[in-house]
Amino acid sequence: MSEDCIFCQIIAGEIPSNTVAETDEAYAFLDVNPLARGHTLVVPKDHHERVGDMPADTAGELFELVNEITPAVEQAVDAPASTVAFNNGEDAGQEVPHVHCHIVPRFAEDGGKPIHSLFTGADLSDDEMAEIADAVRDEQ
Ligand code: 5GP
Ligand code: ZN
Repeated sequence: MSEDCIFCQIIAGEIPSNTVAETDEAYAFLDVNPLARGHTLVVPKDHHERVGDMPADTAGELFELVNEITPAVEQAVDAPASTVAFNNGEDAGQEVPHVHCHIVPRFAEDGGKPIHSLFTGADLSDDEMAEIADAVRDEQ
């Protein structure tokens, strides 16, 4: 546990939350400032800041819980769809430095947009695309 982390305090029961699910390694609760009815956060119980920081079993259990409760969240608020996303790192808008997955129920004509609308796009040549793929493979 990280003492000054708000999500660690929620998981420890020191700060109340509307809990929706819990497993050995993951925890899900309603976002206190919802973007839509049913906006849910899914977090690993151990403190890890970003995607890529978690051991594989923790990451697997986190996604298992996302996979399990996304339909339940949608059904609970009668939503036909949802946006499931991570703000990963401060420059991407992550405010709480404890990795968390947002499940935001979506409705027809809710005024929301796809995640593509966050970006202006990158114009890359075939060579640049191949170089990037090489670089990512080299980094693993
Ligand atoms: P981020 O911007 O880091 O991806 O999202 C952090 C989310 O945590 C925000 O949507 C915010 O509303 C939520 N949040 C921040 N503090 C609390 C809290 O004390 N309780 C709950 N349930 N959600 C919180
Ligand atoms: Zn934490």
